[in-house]
Amino acid sequence: MPFCARRCNYCDFATSALPADRAAAAGLMDAYVDAFEAELAASPPRPARSVYFGGGTPSQLGARRLLRLLAAIAGHGGLLPEAEITVEANPTSVEADLLEALRAGGFNRLSLGLQSLRDELLTVLTRTHTAAEALAAFGLARAAGFDNISVDLMFNLPRQRFTDWCDDLQRIIQLGPEHVSLYELSVEAGTPLAADVAAGRLLLPDEEVDAAMYEAARELLPAAGWEHYEISNFARPGRSSAHNAVYWRNEEYRGYGPGAASYVGRRRWTNEPRAELWRQAVTAGGAAVSEEETRSEDEERRETMYLGLRQLAGVDVAAYTARHGGPPEAWFGTELARLVEVGWLERTPRAWRLTADGLLWSNRVFMEFL
Ligand code: SF4
Repeated sequence: MPFCARRCNYCDFATSALPADRAAAAGLMDAYVDAFEAELAASPPRPARSVYFGGGTPSQLGARRLLRLLAAIAGHGGLLPEAEITVEANPTSVEADLLEALRAGGFNRLSLGLQSLRDELLTVLTRTHTAAEALAAFGLARAAGFDNISVDLMFNLPRQRFTDWCDDLQRIIQLGPEHVSLYELSVEAGTPLAADVAAGRLLLPDEEVDAAMYEAARELLPAAGWEHYEISNFARPGRSSAHNAVYWRNEEYRGYGPGAASYVGRRRWTNEPRAELWRQAVTAGGAAVSEEETRSEDEERRETMYLGLRQLAGVDVAAYTARHGGPPEAWFGTELARLVEVGWLERTPRAWRLTADGLLWSNRVFMEFL
C-alpha cells in the first residue's frame, strides 16, 4: 500500500503521505484499488494459502476498500479454508468500526506497528502515535475479536537505553500478543534520519548495547512463553507467521501493488515502485514489471540455504534434498565445514541450523551462500 498518514524519518519504503484534503486522499485510494484489481485480474488465478496486506499503512484504506480487495482476491483464485489473512495497521489508523468490519469480513490476523511504548522514542522516529494510542489500538483489536495479533517493536534507536528496551519487552509480555517481530533500526541512505545521524544530532546506541538488546529479547520472550522461531520473530505455540514462512522456505509467492515482489517458477520480478507509474501501467496492460531475473538452479540452492537458516529450526535436509536433488552437503561441503568449525552452524539429525553464536553473526553466515 503506497500511502501513509505521514512519512517517518527513517523510512525508505516506496510510500508517500496522503494529501490532507479528504476528497483527494479518497480519490487516490480508490484509484489504487481499481489498479490493484486490474493487476490481479491479469494474473493467473491460484488459490491463496495466505494473504498479507502490508507495506505503507494498509489500514488507512478503510474497511470498504480492504474488504473489496480481499473479495477480489477470493473471487480470482480462491482462498484455502485455513488461509491466514493479515492486515498491517498503525495505531492511529484503527478504530473499533474498522477492526470489527475487517474481522467479520474474514481478516484473521492483525499486525500492529507499535514500534515502541515510549513516547519520546516514538517522537524520535517521527511516528504519528503515542504509547497510549498503541495500547488502546491493541485493546480495540482484541475487543473486535482478533485473537491473532502480531506487534512490531524496534530497537537500536537513538536515545533508547538498554533499560528502556527491557521495559518495552516487559510491557509487551504483559500485553500478550500472539506474535512479536523485532526490527533493528538501520539507517538508510537518503532518509532524514541518516542526515541527523551524519550531523551528530542523533546518536545510535553502541554496538554492544545493540547486541545486548537483541540478547535481552532472546531471553525475556522465550522465558515468558514465546518461541524464538526466526532471527527476528517470536510466537506463541502454533502462532508463527504462515505468510513469512513462505519466504523463509523459498516458496513461490505473488505480490501486487507498487514495488511488490513476486516469485513464480524460477522467475523473480519486482513491480515499478512509483505508485503513479505503477497505476498507469497496470491500468493500461495489467503488468508493471520494473526488474526481473530468472534464477539458475545454483542460485536457487543458495537461496534456499540462507533464507532457511533464518528459521531457528534451520534447513530441513530431507525437504532440501527433495527439492534440489541432493542434501546441502552435496553443494556446500566446504562452506558448511568452515561454519561448523567457527561454531556458527550445527547439523542436527534433521537439519542444518544456526548455533546461538551463529545467530549473532547471521549475516556473515548468509554471505557464505551468496
Ligand atoms: S508508517 Fe511505515 S511505511 Fe509508512 S512511512 Fe512510516 S515506516 Fe514507512
